[in-house]
Amino acid sequence: MDKMNEQVEMTAGCWRWLGGHSNGRPMFFEVAPYNEGKRKGTYVYRLMWEQANGPVPDNLTLDHLCSNIWCIRPSHLEAVSRGENTRRANASRDEQRLTSLSSAKSLPPSIAPR
Ligand SMILES: [Zn+2]
Repeated sequence: MDKMNEQVEMTAGCWRWLGGHSNGRPMFFEVAPYNEGKRKGTYVYRLMWEQANGPVPDNLTLDHLCSNIWCIRPSHLEAVSRGENTRRANASRDEQRLTSLSSAKSLPPSIAPR
């Protein structure tokens, strides 16, 4: 994994991926022997999370708690259901709208800024 470590900018907060990407998401490419020598891409944050926590369950997806898609720090990721991930994305959009209306004080806890 030394090669991966050279492509990461670690800060006190987020660990930013500087390597390859695909579809606007950080990808790590490796030659997989079991894949007939073809290059196989994996989302970097998924690799990092799995190193720390084990395989991501099939029905779950990884949510960036820091909302930084380029961040690969395992502690900034949480495995959630796809429905929950969508709900959070919508909540964050509502939050931005409400904040722009200067009503942040009255936000319910579920969508208050972290
Ligand atoms: Zn982060």
